[in-house]
Amino acid sequence: MAHVVVLGAGLGGTIMAYELRKELGPEHRVSVINKGATYSFVPSNPWIAVGWREKKQIEVELAPVMASHNIGFYPQGAARLLPAERKVELGDGEMLSYDYLVVATGPDLAFDEIEGLGPAGYTQSICHVDHALDAKAAFEQLKAAPGPVVIGAVQGASCYGPAYEFAFILEKALRDAKMRDKVPMTFITPEPYIGHLGLDGVGDTKGLLESKLRERHIKWMTNTRVDKVEAGKLFVTEVNEDASVKQSLELPFVYSMLLPAFRGVAAVRGIEGLTNPRGFVIIDKFQRNPTYPEVYGIGVCVAIPPMGKTPLAVGVPKTGFMIESMVTATTRNIVLAIAGEAPRAQATWNAVCLADFGDSGVAFIAQPQIPPRNVNWSASGAWVHTAKIGFEKYFLHKIRTGQPETFYEKFALKLLGIDKLKAVEEFKVP
Ligand code: FAD
Repeated sequence: MAHVVVLGAGLGGTIMAYELRKELGPEHRVSVINKGATYSFVPSNPWIAVGWREKKQIEVELAPVMASHNIGFYPQGAARLLPAERKVELGDGEMLSYDYLVVATGPDLAFDEIEGLGPAGYTQSICHVDHALDAKAAFEQLKAAPGPVVIGAVQGASCYGPAYEFAFILEKALRDAKMRDKVPMTFITPEPYIGHLGLDGVGDTKGLLESKLRERHIKWMTNTRVDKVEAGKLFVTEVNEDASVKQSLELPFVYSMLLPAFRGVAAVRGIEGLTNPRGFVIIDKFQRNPTYPEVYGIGVCVAIPPMGKTPLAVGVPKTGFMIESMVTATTRNIVLAIAGEAPRAQATWNAVCLADFGDSGVAFIAQPQIPPRNVNWSASGAWVHTAKIGFEKYFLHKIRTGQPETFYEKFALKLLGIDKLKAVEEFKVP
């Protein structure tokens, strides 16, 4: 009997537990440790921030689903991972031992790296549902007393799609409220060009996103870092290609939402051999940590090197489909490890994304994620907004029912010619 523990029940951790439960026999134990008893669908946070969704619409109570699938559930969270002892110290001091551990703890939000940034300072965030609720309250204040808006991401961020999404969603919400004419909008980003997205662009994301920003009268600044934030004032520096200072300015704002840089969570940060200096879990091509091979990493918490040199730090995004492919590869490698076999499954890490703009959007597929690519496709249209709503409903259904991957999903992926795993070898449960 093996005990497999999943640390974190977000987008990756929940389906990780479901997929493990499906593939492992009943003689094996599967447990999930999460900070809190609720799953929250992060991609819907921009809609929460403008009042298009209520918190309860995007949340799922995890205890009943986990119980019905015979998955142990520990909502007290992890205080510290002790990989040398194969134990996790829980938030209430209890110790949980494991044979295999999958770290799926997502990001710690590094607001403290820039003075005045984030909900404890002067800017809004949409990274957590509770931040998005605060951002909604600030949006109501903006409507009552309109003025300049600055949206974007700071240096070192690795998640640019949601920053663009939120700029366009807020713009649409302001148009709906007939307030857009009173709100000058600026988009700021450390990306070297609009639509880089941490991926050196996908298809024509540069042209598509520039055109959308122009169409909606949103000014932009690239190669821009945030130095500090004060009440109603952003201090930013635009840099040249060689990272020398081009200009430093003060941007006034009444409302600002800036995505922070990410780092690993405190429970795993600073563990020699397990995590890199920013606290991200080091993994090999089979999702395993080289120092502690019984520890695997999936999702935003894993270390991925940046794509090429840029004047300011621009991280690589870890998006939903990539994470699902990491989940499937990890499940298969754990099944093999329990059977005493070497790992074989590798995630494809393709980026398949829908960026919603409120009434339209941009979709892209980067296969593989690192250029040059076999598929490098992007397109825009009103259908993307509809598709994103469909994805939200579908994913929440999967979480509520404990389904790792439905027949429809497999069918759709096949139809689109998208592979979840590298075809290393035909996989059979040993
Ligand atoms: P998370 O979903 O963040 O889950 C991490 C989990 O670990 C959480 O439940 C947390 O409570 C738990 N945890 C943390 N610390 C501990 C601890 N010490 N002990 C126990 N549990 C812990 N990707 C897309 O493909 N499409 C999108 O539309 C999209 N939209 C996004 C919008 C926003 C605003 C953001 C920030 C990201 C978006 N992403 C999107 C990127 C990515 O898919 C999401 O960030 C996704 O939620 C990452 O999944 P994850 O499992 O790695 O982390």
